[in-house]
Amino acid sequence: MSLSRPVSIIGAGLAGCEAAWQLSRRGIPVRLLEQKPERRTPAQNSDQLAELVCSNSFRSSNTMNAVGLLKEEMAAAGSLILWAATQCRVPAGDALAVDRDRFAALVTETIRAQPGITLVEGEATELPDDGPVIVATGPLTSDRLAERIGALTGESSLYFYDSIAPIVEDESIDREIVYAASRYGKGDGDDYLNCPMDREQYQVFYDALCAAERVPLREFEKPRYFEGCLPIEIMAERGVDTLRYGPMKPVGLPNPRTGKDPYAVVQLRRENVAGTAWNLVGFQTKLKYPEQLRVFRLVPGLESVSFLRMGSIHRNTFIHSPSLLDANNRLRSDPRIRFAGQITGVEGYVESTASGLLTSLYLAAELQGSSLASPPPETALGAMMSHVHGPGGKDYQPHNIHFGLFPPLGLKLRKRERKAAYGERARDHLAAWLERWPLEVLASP
Ligand SMILES: Cc1cc2nc3c(=O)[nH]c(=O)nc-3n(C[C@H](O)[C@H](O)[C@H](O)COP(=O)(O)OP(=O)(O)OC[C@H]3O[C@@H](n4cnc5c(N)ncnc54)[C@H](O)[C@@H]3O)c2cc1C
Repeated sequence: MSLSRPVSIIGAGLAGCEAAWQLSRRGIPVRLLEQKPERRTPAQNSDQLAELVCSNSFRSSNTMNAVGLLKEEMAAAGSLILWAATQCRVPAGDALAVDRDRFAALVTETIRAQPGITLVEGEATELPDDGPVIVATGPLTSDRLAERIGALTGESSLYFYDSIAPIVEDESIDREIVYAASRYGKGDGDDYLNCPMDREQYQVFYDALCAAERVPLREFEKPRYFEGCLPIEIMAERGVDTLRYGPMKPVGLPNPRTGKDPYAVVQLRRENVAGTAWNLVGFQTKLKYPEQLRVFRLVPGLESVSFLRMGSIHRNTFIHSPSLLDANNRLRSDPRIRFAGQITGVEGYVESTASGLLTSLYLAAELQGSSLASPPPETALGAMMSHVHGPGGKDYQPHNIHFGLFPPLGLKLRKRERKAAYGERARDHLAAWLERWPLEVLASP
């Protein structure tokens, strides 16, 4: 392989380190640009590469979960980060949790020792003007580079995202209580699912919401709330009826079982075309996860609901990938530049790593004169990418992997069987995809 210029990767976080290792191990020289130790993001606490800024968990390893399946596929594709996580594992049930310091140290050592990777320390304030580039600067991309990316992609395409509402699984919603209707019959008349509350149920929910424990905000997160996107518990603090005039407004939504508008309503918006996942409208929140489970299950019809994604709030810089990137994560307007990791609109350690893995594999195949087909949407890797390259729309938001992103099975199965069936189907499709790979699968370091 002869390249006049090395590949420049900006950001030595999870996606950037994964991509650098994948490329260099295939004989492709890499310049890995990292702002540490000169600068840190407000969430970082160490000078190591691949720092886990919050939880120490790569979440479940159980392949009955979408994230477990994603990890299985990444391991099959030879992920460095997953290998390092497994080396630094700490006991945590079926979760892949790690000793974060050992983990970051192991990745840093491996990257520093890898021939073909030149680590360049210091903030990148411009995009390199020649050679292939992968931007993997994550949710807290430095302001100056974010400005450059904004200018390159069109200002309106650089999103600062603050809040995430929970997503629940369709089959776990109690349809004996919940009813389909759009306010005043707009749209198709039944676009939303509605969880009706009477006065007493609302009061119980309201009291629990106000008293629930919240994740403490760090200094840099405090001023970041937009008035139009306040956490539900902050809205509730403004008065007992604020929610009934806001996201829980019941008017124009008569309950077909009573013929009357309820006292308050929680609306669920379809999260995917198949209708297997629903978003709790206006329920962006900073409550602790166990508190979300406890409080949101007080909503009539959601007593036994399964959460595909919990609500959360933090700063997040990401681009509108569906309109800006092609299927190989290349910028449509300048295919020399690729994006990887959380900045593309995936969410979480595992997903960001998977994005770095795939982006580098596409580039490696291209530099070797071939091309790599996208993973099929039935695989976890493919399901994740179909979100990034999907219709998007103006509400495009970062996503964890969950089964709602997979094409529906088209079978009526019980929950456990359904999850197992997603896994089996994904394995068949992954095996067929790997067979067609133009690349070698790498052994662990
Ligand atoms: C506050 C917070 C808490 C989070 N908690 C969790 C959690 O508990 N679990 C979870 O799964 N996910 C969590 N996430 C999401 C998590 O950060 C990402 O999923 C993951 O780290 C993103 O990986 P990445 O490689 O895309 O970016 P990062 O891991 O953030 O790596 C980006 C790298 O780019 C560097 N960089 C930025 N700008 C520049 C520049 N201009 N020049 C050079 N280098 C630059 C940064 O220093 C960093 O090392 C959290 C995110 C935030 C912001």
